[in-house]
Amino acid sequence: MIAHVDSLAPLEACGLLAGRNSKVESVLEVTNQSQSPVRYVMDPIEQLHAFEWIDDNELELLGIFHSHPAGPETVSPTDIAEAAYDVVYVILARANGMWRARGFWIEDGGYSEVTLQIL
Ligand SMILES: [Zn+2]
Repeated sequence: MIAHVDSLAPLEACGLLAGRNSKVESVLEVTNQSQSPVRYVMDPIEQLHAFEWIDDNELELLGIFHSHPAGPETVSPTDIAEAAYDVVYVILARANGMWRARGFWIEDGGYSEVTLQIL
């Protein structure tokens, strides 16, 4: 995830996290159609193919990640407004050249932080 978002900064980058039992096994990069430093819109064809790949491999969609190359570390009002799936939203934010990942559950117009564990 970090290699992907770092290679595309200062534009936002995005993708999907797939796995089983809350454990991510695959990171699927998806093109940010909006090519913007402050916004992401997943390319719909790539997103569809990624969903098919997840199904074909009997995995579940566990998360959606995107970067905030210029911050903040938390979800934006746009992220809340556009959250369409019941999955963890992972934000990768950059500060002083270092990327940091935080997870959020977005629901009812608000959000709460989810602990991410790297195994
Ligand atoms: Zn965002």
